[in-house]
Amino acid sequence: MDLYSEISYIKGIGPKMKELLNNCGINNVIDLLLYFPRDYEKILLDKNLDSTKDGNKVVINCTVIKIDRDVRTKTKRVISTVVFKYNNGIIKGKWFNQPYMKEKFVLRKQYTISGKIQSFKGERMLINPTIINNKDNIIMNSSIQYLSDKNENAGYKLVPKYPLREGLTNNFLIKIISETLKCITISENLPIWLIKKYEFCSLDKAIRNIHNPESNEALLKARKRLKFQELFIFSLKMIMLKDFINNSRGIAFSISPDLKVLKEQLPFNLTNSQSRVIREILLDEKKNKQMNRLVQGDVGSGKTIVAIISMFNVVKNGYQAALLAPTEILANQHYLETQQILKSFNINISLLTGSVSQKQKEIIKSELKEGNIDIIVGTHALLEENVEFKNLGIVVTDELHRFGVIQRSMLFNKGKNVDILVMTATPIPRTLSLYLYGDLDVSIIDELPPGRQKIETFYVEHNKKDKVYKFAAEEIKKGRQAYVVCPLVEENDELSINSVEKLYRDLVNNYFKEEEISILHGKMANKTKDEIMNKFKNGEIKILVSTTVIEVGINVPNATVMIIENAERFGLAQLHQLRGRVGRGSFKSYCILIANIKNDIVEKRLQILKNSNDGFQIAEEDLKIRGSGELFGVRQHGESNFILSDLINDIELLKAANAEAKKLLKSQKEEDIKFKNEIIKKIEQTSQFICFN
Ligand code: ADP
Ligand code: MG
Repeated sequence: MDLYSEISYIKGIGPKMKELLNNCGINNVIDLLLYFPRDYEKILLDKNLDSTKDGNKVVINCTVIKIDRDVRTKTKRVISTVVFKYNNGIIKGKWFNQPYMKEKFVLRKQYTISGKIQSFKGERMLINPTIINNKDNIIMNSSIQYLSDKNENAGYKLVPKYPLREGLTNNFLIKIISETLKCITISENLPIWLIKKYEFCSLDKAIRNIHNPESNEALLKARKRLKFQELFIFSLKMIMLKDFINNSRGIAFSISPDLKVLKEQLPFNLTNSQSRVIREILLDEKKNKQMNRLVQGDVGSGKTIVAIISMFNVVKNGYQAALLAPTEILANQHYLETQQILKSFNINISLLTGSVSQKQKEIIKSELKEGNIDIIVGTHALLEENVEFKNLGIVVTDELHRFGVIQRSMLFNKGKNVDILVMTATPIPRTLSLYLYGDLDVSIIDELPPGRQKIETFYVEHNKKDKVYKFAAEEIKKGRQAYVVCPLVEENDELSINSVEKLYRDLVNNYFKEEEISILHGKMANKTKDEIMNKFKNGEIKILVSTTVIEVGINVPNATVMIIENAERFGLAQLHQLRGRVGRGSFKSYCILIANIKNDIVEKRLQILKNSNDGFQIAEEDLKIRGSGELFGVRQHGESNFILSDLINDIELLKAANAEAKKLLKSQKEEDIKFKNEIIKKIEQTSQFICFN
């Protein structure tokens, strides 16, 4: 077995598991090793049970000495109790509303269980303990180490928590990864001088420790090494891309006289910012150098029209244009808007997304190749290799943070020296954008169209929910519409869908009519999603309850209420984006954040949002408070390009990686040249930022 062997070679992976893993993008050994834990659980070992604080999770070996009869409380909760004996004494395990749990235990038998310590009227007990199946339990196996932690004087083990999808369990992943690590050694892939300079641990050690940390220290070292790795490869790519671009000639488009006609037909006057940015873009189009421009503009600043006009000019020069959106819903919306704006011109516009039928796809593809389609709007289906253009002239990518450098470079390989325009509403601090988008020129739309009202923002505790939904019902009566957003429950799509469904039923039962409210979530078929979205757009559906799928770009001017449940779980930039879904028409709009305001930081953050409507300001203030990468909000859901790095906190490492990458590319030393060539080959083969030799 080697790094590129299929995962079915790993002991314990049968056909069914293989399929599940494949669905998560894990095809060979290397993918599995790069499936990093998203967090670790510090599990205390039973010698220290007595000194364990409330709320900590513990693992104990114990024997059942008593199984109590269930008790029903006044509030109709069912409490089950099992009494356990362990080496230091006796402890009760308690379950709430899970009467079936006690049935898993047999009197006088031995178990390894894990649960949370909690004091209850002076007595310490284990809450909702679960049995750890000894067969696939790494915690209690022979490799266990009692680590000493001076502060807590406790023995503990860091147990990885992997991102889970349907059918995968954490224990299973732990087991197969440790099985894999037994059979494999990973060779070094950074130049020796680099490893010495930064005192990195070896790649092999880093991979082992990220999956099964020997200690907290070893884990930190592993993460540092791997982060560097990631940022180093990223920088190499970025620099190579930039060199490539700088040396690329572009198509010199002329400025079409029809631009004037189009401008006069627009349903509104462009803002000064929009006009300036369009001018900058048209100047780029005119040059015989390739355009590489990033347009930054807050939510609602009107980036779409900028994209349409940029494409229009290229099309008028006889070339094709592509507009890429991160989601189908958004692609759909852009498609409709492009059609609407350009309807009086004889321009052929098509939509290509994952849900287009195979037959239709084939037709579109051949039309693209023939050059019969002028503007194609789509999702990453557009990036598929067998999509060919006759003469692509410009590619516009919306909401850039969802697409990586790799995808960007993939697209521009589709045309000869095509112009590249990327648009984002994510406020990226200047210092960072230099490293992240070093290959791009930047245009900023820094004003909103006139007549926009400030969106009134409130935050309330959960117990005020009733008032919030009654308020929303009032707005609906006035003819307006509302969004209700729930966070994705981490690591478990099923759970988040459940929570959305529960909320939906609650809303139907108490506040709204069934026919005017609908759920929308990421797991729905694309066709269903589109249908619901369209019904919402034309006002048949009044309230949309969803997970964050509506986050980017959706435009429904009649919607005036945005309610966000568990707002504390979102990044501020993300909340700001969500809020930007309302206040798009002439009606007064509201954003109500329902949150668990248990600490000052949560409140401070919500306060920032309440006080400001400016995305850049919000991002900066948030940084001051938390200094965290959650600014981008999407990382946890695997949509960012970095697995480990947090661009805000790791900026120093990014700087270093960038400098070293430059050095390496310039180096004439024989070993460096050899290394460089190898790594470039690897980079071309894989889309990951952590490549192995
Ligand atoms: P975003 O920058 O968030 O992508 P959109 O392009 O979706 O913003 O534009 C938001 C709304 O503002 C759309 O309804 C759009 O038609 C409208 N809009 C754009 N530019 C102007 C303008 N100059 N004046 C008035 N409305 C505008
Ligand atoms: Mg947009």
